[in-house]
Amino acid sequence: MNNSCHNCKSKNIRFIYKTTDYISNEEFRIQRCANCDLIFPLEYPEDINKYYPKKYRSYIPIVKKIITIKSQLYVRSIIKRYSKNSNTIKNKVIEIGCGNGDMLKIFKNLGWDVYGSERSGVVDKNNELNISNKDVDEYPNEYFDLALLYNSFEHLYDPREILKKITTKVKKNGLIIISVPSHESFQCKFGKQDWVHLDAPRHLNIFSIKAFKHMMQSIVNTAVLEIVSHKSISFDLEFYGWFQTILNKFYKENNLFLKYLQDMSGNKIKFYTSLLQLVILSVPCAILSGLSMISNKGAITEIILKKKSD
Ligand SMILES: [Zn+2]
Repeated sequence: MNNSCHNCKSKNIRFIYKTTDYISNEEFRIQRCANCDLIFPLEYPEDINKYYPKKYRSYIPIVKKIITIKSQLYVRSIIKRYSKNSNTIKNKVIEIGCGNGDMLKIFKNLGWDVYGSERSGVVDKNNELNISNKDVDEYPNEYFDLALLYNSFEHLYDPREILKKITTKVKKNGLIIISVPSHESFQCKFGKQDWVHLDAPRHLNIFSIKAFKHMMQSIVNTAVLEIVSHKSISFDLEFYGWFQTILNKFYKENNLFLKYLQDMSGNKIKFYTSLLQLVILSVPCAILSGLSMISNKGAITEIILKKKSD
């Protein structure tokens, strides 16, 4: 139980709504810290692994294909931005929460030295991508040119500790790129307990920029690390988020469409019904997605941090 905020330790926390996990069907109470603005579940499961079934983030082939294309574009866009910050030839990247290493593979193919960190049980057997569950502390200081946390920071029990450690492991002028769901998004404000990216209890921390800055400033000196930019990214997740969140408002069961995408539901009739709904809602969802992203109030925010030189 979290009777105080684990970001700022304030006791000034308020219950906002209850939400039901689409995997376990358990209910979680969501609260907001009035001091630092973090949103988090009141209950932290002792064994979080049981909320991550094998099919979580294991998608049907067409979705896998889309994710691969999207990852390639994303990694290339990062490298393009990064090249402005570095003159070194062989760059090193670490991805915290790298899954099976889809993005690392792309970095490696583009000539980077890659390292991945993932929870126990998911490790790279041939070790080609250097994926392990070892503590970030075990790497030398100022070792990486880039640290990437793509939709993983919100899953961490102790994001403060990870950010602190990773800051020491990144070289001066190196970047830390963190992508997280944002509760400032229009989608969250509309969806509330039905918002697909709330995803309790797997998402243990839902940030706003205020909450993120509060955390960052309490653990690292702003003379060392600065926020270069924060902006809404991932039109695909934005679009899908609107579609699934709108459906959640109408159905008792949460994340029905996501269950099909993750191959967790075999009901073909319901699946075709969802596809029809997708066609009907595609235009409004596209408009809502465009408006959200233009206003920088999208569901996923990318925060780019730079380690300053002396
Ligand atoms: Zn707080």
